[in-house]
Amino acid sequence: MKNTHQLRRDTLSSNYSGRDRYDLIIIGAGLSGLSSGLMWLKNTTGMKTLIIEKNSYPGGYSTAYERGGYVFETTQLFPDIVDILEYLDIDLPLKRYEKNFMRRLVVNGDHVEQYLIPAGSENFTRYLVEKFPADAEKISALMEYSVDLFKQVRKLKVNATLKDTLATPFKAPKVIANLNRTYSGLLDKFKITDPRLREVMETFTSFSGVPSGRASAILATGAMLSSMTRCFRPLGFFDEYPAKLAEKFQSMGGEIFFNAEVEKIDVKDGVVSGVIVKGERSLISADKVITTVDPMLAMRRLVGDEHLPEKYIKKLENTIMSPSSVNVALGLDDRIDLTKLDLDYPYNVVSTGLGTAERLFNAFLAGNHGFSKDCFHAAVICPSLTTKTKNTITIRSTPWALNGWKELRESNYEKYQAEKEKLADFLIDIAEKYFIPDLKKHIVVKDIATPATYARFSGSPTGSIYDMASLVTQFGPKRLPMKTPVKNLYQPKFAHGLYGTMMNGVQVVDLLLDRKFNNGNSLFTPGQSGALTQNMHGA
Ligand SMILES: Cc1cc2nc3c(=O)[nH]c(=O)nc-3n(C[C@H](O)[C@H](O)[C@H](O)COP(=O)(O)OP(=O)(O)OC[C@H]3O[C@@H](n4cnc5c(N)ncnc54)[C@H](O)[C@@H]3O)c2cc1C
Repeated sequence: MKNTHQLRRDTLSSNYSGRDRYDLIIIGAGLSGLSSGLMWLKNTTGMKTLIIEKNSYPGGYSTAYERGGYVFETTQLFPDIVDILEYLDIDLPLKRYEKNFMRRLVVNGDHVEQYLIPAGSENFTRYLVEKFPADAEKISALMEYSVDLFKQVRKLKVNATLKDTLATPFKAPKVIANLNRTYSGLLDKFKITDPRLREVMETFTSFSGVPSGRASAILATGAMLSSMTRCFRPLGFFDEYPAKLAEKFQSMGGEIFFNAEVEKIDVKDGVVSGVIVKGERSLISADKVITTVDPMLAMRRLVGDEHLPEKYIKKLENTIMSPSSVNVALGLDDRIDLTKLDLDYPYNVVSTGLGTAERLFNAFLAGNHGFSKDCFHAAVICPSLTTKTKNTITIRSTPWALNGWKELRESNYEKYQAEKEKLADFLIDIAEKYFIPDLKKHIVVKDIATPATYARFSGSPTGSIYDMASLVTQFGPKRLPMKTPVKNLYQPKFAHGLYGTMMNGVQVVDLLLDRKFNNGNSLFTPGQSGALTQNMHGA
């Protein structure tokens, strides 16, 4: 096999001009920051725009890196955002998973049930009906309802006028009906009681480390349909995507300041005035600031409680950030033929049966973890089957809490390494047992990421990997709003995943431009976008 791809993340450099005033500053060059910057520059002219990023590369959580001659990636699944790529004129070679979306194993004692979940909602419905003929009618009704619900989400206005708000119950009645419904509530509504069928359906909520009894029905349905309808991954390494976005942003006149950590968002009389970068003495002023970093970091540490109303502080205190993760990336020798192991799916997921997500999430909430031989949830991904590089696999598990990992890393690095190894062994045993026989014999390089790793690279105080948890109690109007209580400071945090990050940019720029870009729509609506007139100075 020959590696024809190269890592791109370190090929970009800062083009910060040293200017002291900008029209817009964006904190973070992850996908939300890059999306925001690109949507902004594409729909305005002459705006001085700066993205400030603490790492030396763009992409944040979505990246790739090299260890011991192997290239590993963090993200795996590229959802259907092809229309956005076209809009931004980004050419990213993608592999489309035509047949199956997921190989799913459910372990109950000694019994292992396998499901090959096909891509596309109609294929998925057909598959479920075949597997669970007694529930055929219920399945068809649920899936039809789900597709319709997702269509209605498209009709929602994120930045609603009074007229929009009054029209919503007529345009999107299913959205209104499900605002407070959990995903298991949705399954109950369709009288889906067969535990095996529920296990399959709940795959989509446990994805984000949230049990179906707490996950928003709308979000879970959206996650299911937006990822399974058409799913892809880059043909090259994942870092190519943020690299191309960053390059495009710079080619459009945007500036990126890498290796620059914002330590303060400056607020004067309730209005944002700019940011202070660590090690730099003076303020970089801005008319507007968008923060795309963890809200607990942005609002509590960078802004500070003294600038926030009591009510907002309470809301922050009550916000549950999504869990963290443990990831084991393995470089394997060339004596193993991964093409023979039926692994070429976006995800190979194995978990213990019903109730697992609940137990793991409750342990996470308690600041602990609930993983054991009898209670686990893990995904195995095999990127080298696409990139055609040396054999790599990644084992991912969630939910994990930060739970002392950061302190341990800082206070006793040796013990930290030993604990990491123990965890990796636990996950490797699972991968070996259910997907890759004799895996251990083939390991050449091992790279283990703990919640401390995620906290360090993203700046999230809890190592949260999916932003605010997709709980029904903090969905839609109950989420932290994009407009913060500080005037001209915006925080687009729509939902997790690559799809959500691109929408973050769409929504926040539409808000800044008074709906002239996306007409207030919650999702990118190509027909109505791009219609913006020139010269949006001071919009
Ligand atoms: C292991 C893993 C696997 C995943 N797999 C998938 C997948 O297959 N498909 C999918 O759709 N999603 C996946 N996700 C989720 C997806 O990667 C994230 O939702 C998305 O990348 C978040 O982008 P973001 O820009 O909102 O945040 P981030 O990626 O966290 O970006 C924030 C950026 O801000 C920077 N920053 C933080 N603090 C400061 C500061 N003070 N000053 C300056 N810069 C700062 C950070 O360095 C970072 O670059 C995965 C996430 C992880 C962790």
